[in-house]
Amino acid sequence: MKNDVADAGKRVRPSDFAPQNGAANDGDIFTDAIRRLDAAARHLDVDAEVLDQLRIPKSVLQVAIPVRMDDGSLRVFQGYRVRYSDARGPGKGGIRYHPQVSLSEVKALAFWMAFKCAVVGIPYGGGKGGIIVDPRLLSLTELERLSRGFIRQIAPVLGPDVDVPAPDVYTNSTTMAWMMDEFSIISGRKELAVITGKPLELGGSLGRDDATGRGGYYCIKEMEAAEGWNPRDISVAVQGFGNAGQHAARLLHADGYKVVAVSDSRDGWYKPNGLDIPAVIAAKVRTGRLVLPEPDADAQPITNEALLELPVHLLAPSALENQITGKNAARIQAKVILELANGPTTSEADAILQKRGITVVPDILANAGGVTVSYFEWTQNRAGFYWSLDEVHGRLRAIMARSYHEVADTAKEKGTDLRTGAYVLALKRIAEALQPEGPHRREASGK
Ligand code: NAD
Repeated sequence: MKNDVADAGKRVRPSDFAPQNGAANDGDIFTDAIRRLDAAARHLDVDAEVLDQLRIPKSVLQVAIPVRMDDGSLRVFQGYRVRYSDARGPGKGGIRYHPQVSLSEVKALAFWMAFKCAVVGIPYGGGKGGIIVDPRLLSLTELERLSRGFIRQIAPVLGPDVDVPAPDVYTNSTTMAWMMDEFSIISGRKELAVITGKPLELGGSLGRDDATGRGGYYCIKEMEAAEGWNPRDISVAVQGFGNAGQHAARLLHADGYKVVAVSDSRDGWYKPNGLDIPAVIAAKVRTGRLVLPEPDADAQPITNEALLELPVHLLAPSALENQITGKNAARIQAKVILELANGPTTSEADAILQKRGITVVPDILANAGGVTVSYFEWTQNRAGFYWSLDEVHGRLRAIMARSYHEVADTAKEKGTDLRTGAYVLALKRIAEALQPEGPHRREASGK
């Protein structure tokens, strides 16, 4: 149902949401996320008290949302909002509509948001929300009632200085508009800055629609310069053709990268000499499906599992978490993985990839462009002064390039992979916010 993605109005079968590759087989997703905290802590002198504060979310709200359906019946949906940390600023993070949403997943996503905001140095803690629902089995009016009902339940823990949601999987700018409007009705005043990812007419920012894919693309441009790549020699496979994946594929293709495979929850295509990405996007907009456009009629169908194991240079998992696991990591042939999705690689898989010399640009860096432009949107709402698209792109590029090099330098200094480097950088920043007197106190007390 993405506004800018042609899933609009489509009704899918529940089986379309079946997890791939035995999702979550590597264990509980939140427990797995916390392993990254422990791995980073080994490289830093951080107080145990600080780490203890980061092992548990600051607040968790579980709500029941009664919705009057179009046929007159009442259905009750379950939703969550987790504010992981407010050490560096208000909570910040998307709201996901998906049948496999769970509290463990929302907590993991909120934890990743806290570290992501710290990696790119924007003044937020982390947050996330979700509703257990097959969104495309609901009509638009049912979805509106669900979205407004969710906000009524979680309004006490939201606010521009408290916790600021945004879109995530199967929510979009229309969802954000309903939610901002409901919150404004509750508050008795227009509260544009309570939510980001809104339509332009309602305080949205130029450049928010493609910010996540664009941020990942800017990371690749830094890598391209550092490695001396010629884009024409770099083959790319993109799993997930929604907001994150589609825009990254478009920008890379426009620069001459050879995007050889794309997939979504229902379809996947492989063409070794490269797909015509603008034509694929146009066909998806036209039909709502990932169908083959005329120039790519000779592409072969491919499953999501097989796409991950293609002999490509660059693999961009851009759908859901737990796609590269202990089960398939040994078969991944890509040299570089750009994690546009949140949590696509389990920690068990990470160890295997690292041993095999595969570079992973981690999610908390690779997909941070989305929250960065959300930050721009919040800033513009609060100032009441709006930026041009060039200003948004210029500021996003500067933040992504600086963050990419800070992560790479930290990883080099600590002798780790990029993911651990990103967590070390973020943990240092969060720890300093949680305990600003930390190092000084130790110096003063001589400990
Ligand atoms: P989206 O709803 O726009 O697109 C999701 C895409 O994934 C769709 O093409 C869908 O068909 C596909 N998909 C769903 N299940 C799949 C499966 N099992 N296998 C393969 N493809 C599948 O969502 P999005 O906003 O692009 O989010 C995708 C990922 O990017 C998520 O992990 C999300 O948390 C992350 N992310 C998104 C943003 C953002 O700004 N949108 C920001 C940061 C991270």
